Parts: sequence; C-alpha cells; structure tokens
Amino acid sequence: MSLKNSALLVIDMQYDFMQGGSLEVQGANELIPYINKLMTLNWGLIAASKDWHPSDHISFASNHSHANAFETITLDDQSEQVMWPDHCVQNTTGSEIHDQINSSLFDAIVLKGQNSKVDSYSAFFDNNHLEKTQLHAVLLCKKISSIYLVGLAADFCVKYTAIDGQSLGFDTHFIFDATRSVNPEDNSNLIQQLQLKKIEINSTQQLIEQNQPKNK
Ligand SMILES: [Zn+2]
Repeated sequence: MSLKNSALLVIDMQYDFMQGGSLEVQGANELIPYINKLMTLNWGLIAASKDWHPSDHISFASNHSHANAFETITLDDQSEQVMWPDHCVQNTTGSEIHDQINSSLFDAIVLKGQNSKVDSYSAFFDNNHLEKTQLHAVLLCKKISSIYLVGLAADFCVKYTAIDGQSLGFDTHFIFDATRSVNPEDNSNLIQQLQLKKIEINSTQQLIEQNQPKNK
C-alpha cells in the first residue's frame, strides 16, 4: 500500500493537553511513541495542528462571569460552547508541541482558534464554519486524497477534523489507538458516530504492518 497521496495529521499534541497541562487529557503522553512510529512511514505529507488562542478567548471559563470549566453555556449567538480552563495561549510554553514528538518531520503546522470570538475544534474550519485554516490548501497542493488522524482530543478536535475532512472529500481514517478522549467513557458512541460518517477506524499496528518505513 502506498501512502504517497496520504497525509498524517497530528492534532494538538501540545503541553497543555498532556500530562501536567492545564487541560490534561488522560493518557495523552502514551501517544508519543505511537505517533513517532507512524511518522516514520512513507507519507505524502505530515501536518500538525496547534490550538492557538488569544488570552481573551471565548472558550475560556475565566473570560465569563458565571461559568465553570467543563460546563456547557449558550452564547449570545445561541450556539453552545463548552467552557474550558485557559489553554494553549499563543506563545506560552503550554501551546508548544511536546518536545518528545519528532517535530522535525512535520511538513506543515496549521494554527487554529486565533479568533477570540469563536472556538475552533476542527483543523479545517472554526466551529461556525466561517473561516478556513490553511490545511485544505496544503493538502490539495500536495495532491493528498486520504487523511489519517492522530492526537488530541479524540472526542473534540480529532473528531471534528475528521468530519470536516470527510465532507471536503478526503478518504478519512481515524487511528483510534493513537488518540485519547476527554470523555473516554463515550468512546463506543464516538466510534459509531464516525462510522456513520463513513470515517474508517484503524489501528497503529495495521498501518505499520501495511506500510514500509521511509528508509527501507
Ligand atoms: Zn482550544
């Protein structure tokens, strides 16, 4: 199997989402060896995304007078927004990609969530689908037709990147053991939702067995 027209998308492997971070996802550090191993395969492109918020971002509970982290509130425009602890503020250590991830293999890094007024789970669009990141253009430029997703968090940013990728016409794969969820108790429901959208669920081992590393 050739991965020439396939891209590995490494979603939000930033310190704030990892062990000891302000919005730690359980088990996030366990993904590091899986992702580094996957990056040795012969991908047409490897892209990473970074959550990249201004400090007055709408998703931070601290920016609302009566909100608690992890509750859902209704915004002025009637959309629902989960309240998060402050995380991935631009140019802070928490916003950097973990240094054990082999970032030298990234061909592109896409930033998302810079608009303080709207959240952005997907690496393609903000949550209101008003603005696009550079990711779609980067993939088209490299003639990518399939995308494989890993990273954080499975039930938010990886999920919405997968759904948008599939609706943009990419053959979309979710490497489930190379992701971790904020709410892992809902993982079977998440897998069902992805399969309904025709997103394929894969494992790291499947990818490794089917493909040769770059230097062999
Ligand atoms: Zn965020």
